[in-house]
Amino acid sequence: MKRATHISELREIIALEKKRGRVIALVPTMGYLHRGHLSLVERAKKTGAFVVLSIFVNPLQFGPNEDYASYPRDLERDANLVEVAGVDVLFHPSSEEMYPRPMVTYVEVGQLDSVLCGAKRPGHFRGVATIVSKLFHIVQPDLAFFGQKDYQQYLVIQRMVSDLNLPIEICSVSIAREEDGLALSSRNVFLTLEQRLEAKILSQSLNEAEASLRAGERSARKIESQLREKISGHCQGIIDYVEVRDAGDLSEVTTIERPVLIALAVKFGSTRLIDNKVVEVDRHV
Ligand code: AMP
Repeated sequence: MKRATHISELREIIALEKKRGRVIALVPTMGYLHRGHLSLVERAKKTGAFVVLSIFVNPLQFGPNEDYASYPRDLERDANLVEVAGVDVLFHPSSEEMYPRPMVTYVEVGQLDSVLCGAKRPGHFRGVATIVSKLFHIVQPDLAFFGQKDYQQYLVIQRMVSDLNLPIEICSVSIAREEDGLALSSRNVFLTLEQRLEAKILSQSLNEAEASLRAGERSARKIESQLREKISGHCQGIIDYVEVRDAGDLSEVTTIERPVLIALAVKFGSTRLIDNKVVEVDRHV
């Protein structure tokens, strides 16, 4: 596996592979890798592409009171993991390499930024869209892989690629979970034992919401209040949001007749966890 910290080095490596006719796949991450990230790599490898994995904790997507400084980092452990997983080149630039000057140019993401995590984390998706756009320009991949764990991020990137006519296929990968259902996240290491045990309620409550929908419940507000009750009754986490929204454009839903995203964010102490489920319903039930 090659490693690059400078944009120029990475560009040289990729130019050579493109000349050889290889398809280029990009897996952007913030590191502290787990099985969820590796499932993205696995999917990318399956395409036969030359796989570039980036690790960059992007300051632009963290709010002033968020966990940029304390975000977990372990580059050498990550490098070993991705080498074993078959990544072709690991790109881990410094902040100075990515942001040599204060930015004046950003990618704005409009109404997709005003709901769910966007509403709770002002500027977050602008930071995400801007760094992903920079990575797309640096790597010029044919394919890029994103996890459904960050479903809103996936929609934002898909929309950016469509709006800006970027010739990149966005591939989404389903959520990797622990045995008890907790969605894998780099931030799970911050949970105390008690919080970790309680956190399984998030996926359990999403499963119950799905079951309730499948049993015929069509009121988005009822599903949301069932979820809230379940979560606040079984853990000490503080609900940031619990919402049922249109899975295609995140617009508001009252009566569920199309595929919906059931999404939640819950704070366990200072650790904010997100999870979601996309449910397609039969409108004739
Ligand atoms: P992050 O390092 O948290 O920015 O995540 C990098 C990529 O991995 C994003 O596309 C995430 O959606 C994806 N990812 C993170 N956790 C999971 C998971 N549990 N299952 C699948 N994909 C994930």
